[in-house]
Amino acid sequence: MTAAAPRASRWPREENATRIRSVSRQGELDVLRMVLEEQYARHHTQLALLARQGTRPDATAGADTAAELTAASRRALDDLARALRHLDQGRYGTCQRCRTDIPIECLAHRPAARFCPRCDAASTRR
Ligand SMILES: [Zn+2]
Repeated sequence: MTAAAPRASRWPREENATRIRSVSRQGELDVLRMVLEEQYARHHTQLALLARQGTRPDATAGADTAAELTAASRRALDDLARALRHLDQGRYGTCQRCRTDIPIECLAHRPAARFCPRCDAASTRR
């Protein structure tokens, strides 16, 4: 009695794994696009609300906070617009310093991240 030889895989194991990983990454990026667009819309609305609040005569008490919130929303809009532009150009999720893929977990946490955790840590240490 002879045991059947294990059937050879059509693709080498490594290549197959890469193929599956890149397909699932594309799926994750599609979800992240929705997150980015949703965050962009939210900051856009917040800026509009803050601008209206700024014209009210009784708004002076919270002026500092409103200015801080406005600045933060403007920065966020810049970051989100850049991330969406990169998505369209197919270079979203790539570290702008070392060009490696930023892990999906990091992008899920900070969709507008520009650097991988390693480069991010290196830049904040300076
Ligand atoms: Zn990097």
